[in-house]
Amino acid sequence: MNTEAATTAPIVRHSSPYLPTSPRKEQLATYDVAAIRARVDLLALVSPDTQLRKVATTRGGEWAGACPWCGGTDRFRVQPERGQWHCRQCSPDERWQDAIAYAMRRDGVDFREACDRLAGGAALSTIVNKPHAAPAAAAEPSDTWRAAGMALVEEAEASLWGEAGRRARLYLHDRGLSKHTIRTWRLGYIAQDRYDAAEVWGADPAERQRVLVPAGIVIPWFHEGQLWQLKVRRRTGSDPKYLAVAGGHPLGYGLHTLKGHRIAVACEGEFDAMLAQQEAGELMGVVTLGSCSKGLDARVVPHLLPLARVLVAYDADEEGQKGAARLVSLSARMRQIHVPDEANDITEYWQQGGDVLGWLTEEVGTHWPAEAGRA
Ligand SMILES: [Zn+2]
Repeated sequence: MNTEAATTAPIVRHSSPYLPTSPRKEQLATYDVAAIRARVDLLALVSPDTQLRKVATTRGGEWAGACPWCGGTDRFRVQPERGQWHCRQCSPDERWQDAIAYAMRRDGVDFREACDRLAGGAALSTIVNKPHAAPAAAAEPSDTWRAAGMALVEEAEASLWGEAGRRARLYLHDRGLSKHTIRTWRLGYIAQDRYDAAEVWGADPAERQRVLVPAGIVIPWFHEGQLWQLKVRRRTGSDPKYLAVAGGHPLGYGLHTLKGHRIAVACEGEFDAMLAQQEAGELMGVVTLGSCSKGLDARVVPHLLPLARVLVAYDADEEGQKGAARLVSLSARMRQIHVPDEANDITEYWQQGGDVLGWLTEEVGTHWPAEAGRA
């Protein structure tokens, strides 16, 4: 068994560029890691997040299923007897990890918090956040969720523009976003992780007792005046970087900007979409469509139909290129483009001094000469 896993698991260090640092020594010795591992049934811990089936009887048995984070069908592996799990796609070096590492990643908590929850028998399985998992069963957020979400949006906005949000504002400005852009997209800031009672968000208490509202930059997804999803860009160094408040539905980000345009740029992330809109909004609409691993939501399609071209400018990394390929395969209107100067994404290109408007204008000329001539 890999006994390194927990002790080498990344401890969330509060070294964010936009948060005050609060250094604290993790007292690893105060947790009996072996005892925690021994008492946690890994299959039970994982079962709310993915369906597993037994695929091998060696080493005490191995179970396989879709990864709670990156999907697939059988890449996520659990060996309950050995108390270890890994994902063949997204675990670094396919390294086996223990229950503590699982709880850290799934719940977005640090080592100490994960140990507390597992050791204390807290209702861990009731706090579930699956930003990359299959779409939630509910195809649309409930009215209760939307009311709670709007309250959070307003609270987070007030906090962002207050003293507590000073570093968060600097962080956003570092990403090229102007005050006007930040206000238009209604970004906000939450200083502390928070666990609301399920009822607040209209969640079924039988499924989850509490709903995590993670600390970080709040990115609300609006569509036709309604709130659909709340994503949070967490502190730098957090894994995963983004979490969504459970109960939302990722319909599409920026769909309203498509109106009146015959060309759009599809971005992988919200920050890129906001920056592209700020720099090139006169020329084109912007949209973030998520991974599209299950195709496009039928409610999104009507917004894309009036477009003649969608330039797909996903991240240069492997995952981004896979996502772009998937999107381009959906429609002949889609054209994959690449961020210049070896930048990984649009934000990085801007940070290098890149001319976002100039680049996108050039791409329009390449992929849709008729429109470039008219402009
Ligand atoms: Zn995975």
